[in-house]
Amino acid sequence: MIRINNVSLPLDYDETTVKKCAAKALKINTGEIRYASIYKRSVDARKKSNVHFEAVIDVKLSCKEQPIADRCSKAIIAEEYTYSLPESKPLKKRPVIIGSGPCGMFAALILAQAGQNPILIERGRNVDQRTEDVSKFWLTGKLDTASNVQFGEGGAGTFSDGKLNTGTKDIRTRKVLNEFVSHGAPKEILYLAKPHIGTDMLKNTVRNMRSSIIALGGEVLFESTMTGFKNKNGKITAVEITHQGNVHTIDTDHVILAIGHSARDTFRMLSRHGIAMQQKPFSMGVRIEHLQENINRQQYGSFWNSQYLSAADYKLAVHLKNGRGVYTFCMCPGGTVVAAASEERRVVTNGMSEFARDKINANSALLVGITPNDFGSEDILAGVEFQRILEHQAFLAGGENYHAPVQRVCDFLNGKKSTSPGSVIPSYKPGYEPTDLHLCLPDFITDSLQQGLILMDNRLNGFADGDAILTAVESRSSSPVRILRDENMQSVSMSGLYPCGEGAGYAGGIMSAAVDGIKAAEMILKLTM
Ligand SMILES: Cc1cc2nc3c(=O)[nH]c(=O)nc-3n(C[C@H](O)[C@H](O)[C@H](O)COP(=O)(O)OP(=O)(O)OC[C@H]3O[C@@H](n4cnc5c(N)ncnc54)[C@H](O)[C@@H]3O)c2cc1C
Repeated sequence: MIRINNVSLPLDYDETTVKKCAAKALKINTGEIRYASIYKRSVDARKKSNVHFEAVIDVKLSCKEQPIADRCSKAIIAEEYTYSLPESKPLKKRPVIIGSGPCGMFAALILAQAGQNPILIERGRNVDQRTEDVSKFWLTGKLDTASNVQFGEGGAGTFSDGKLNTGTKDIRTRKVLNEFVSHGAPKEILYLAKPHIGTDMLKNTVRNMRSSIIALGGEVLFESTMTGFKNKNGKITAVEITHQGNVHTIDTDHVILAIGHSARDTFRMLSRHGIAMQQKPFSMGVRIEHLQENINRQQYGSFWNSQYLSAADYKLAVHLKNGRGVYTFCMCPGGTVVAAASEERRVVTNGMSEFARDKINANSALLVGITPNDFGSEDILAGVEFQRILEHQAFLAGGENYHAPVQRVCDFLNGKKSTSPGSVIPSYKPGYEPTDLHLCLPDFITDSLQQGLILMDNRLNGFADGDAILTAVESRSSSPVRILRDENMQSVSMSGLYPCGEGAGYAGGIMSAAVDGIKAAEMILKLTM
């Protein structure tokens, strides 16, 4: 198979166009191409007068491929990717995975595919019951601390934009995308440069993955929380699970700890047991909302309304004179800002979208880098406390009913309290309170956000539009701790315990968390040999 890079395609391309463009690049006749398909596709909107797709195209020819590839600088001979499980022997005791986010689900799937009958433990509820719990919170402000946007089947990624792009170069990302597709995700995620599933599709995918794990001999236990563990001479021997107030133990030699960044009680439990952890930098800030149409106009120029382009995104980062970085994160085109608290009397924002990304607003986290120096304490969990304080201040500023404090950008920049939104209506539910965000955020965050907004407006015209809405507080962009592990992915203080994914500080996003889960499962399989 020949892989051709940097092929420009018009927005309204079809199969014939793909073949023609590939043939032109290889300087052959279209008739010599037996098969052509797009391996990767991105939008090139650098010139607003010529917005088009840039593609990588895979072709199979009816003639010898090597000589043709050799004479085209854009082409290489490539092979189709297939994932191979490492060889393994049956484990004496079933492996246990704590947490059914992307990290835990993929670890469980791999171990199930290898015939190791894993047990997947999840504190929250299954995705259907969880959807009801989350809807209730967004409608009425009644929070279920075990079943919410952070906790439950599918983990933090279930109610999300479902963006599947990642900085991870690991080839296992292909395995993740292939598994998503075989469990119901749209095929286009295999070739889009910025693939996205959306909450509606993700729920289905997660449900189907659970069925596969069970069909392959795995077990999935919901409403079950790991509240302790047993060990002998620094080696794990069992996990303690609390289900409806009753504690039982599961004997095991291998525990994958994929608990996410919001499992504050579990972090405390691990710290009490002397599991080595350290403070870690992370980021905090707000969500910013604009009208999606304005973002489309800025990014696509006269093509802003093209039927071939999906809602436009952006990614901005600036470095301030005060040494801090301000950047946008987890941008959700055509999405909504969501209430993502998992603890009572706290307000947390995040963003999600449906597959169609067709809502009126665009939103993104607007974050300021925080280092352990800002925590004001050397306690390992000081970062968690820092998050908790700001989330509580946001709760108070919102009116103590899980409404979020919001402010128009013009008022935020002028240090003036907002009394109502302008043209951008906040999408956060169960409700919002126009106010002054300086009341709930420390000065170093508000100062940095103000400077960041101005600088970013120079890069994306209208970013600091006076009517854009800021909603606080975006506090859970990544984990405030790292659980230390060795080269075998096991805790440096407890062998048999594999701290993984976002909560342990080894991933940031759905794809990298899933890849880390796969790697941990592979490590367990390899160590059986
Ligand atoms: C609203 C929202 C939108 C997002 N959008 C995107 C996006 O578009 N793209 C992207 O890449 N990332 C997105 N993210 C981030 C992404 O979801 C996370 O990076 C990813 O889910 C981390 O995966 P994980 O498996 O490491 O942890 P998690 O997904 O957090 O899963 C951890 C699981 O462990 C469970 N758990 C915790 N403690 C225990 C315990 N003691 N016992 C049993 N179970 C426990 C939790 O209930 C949870 O289900 C979003 C996050 C949120 C909240």
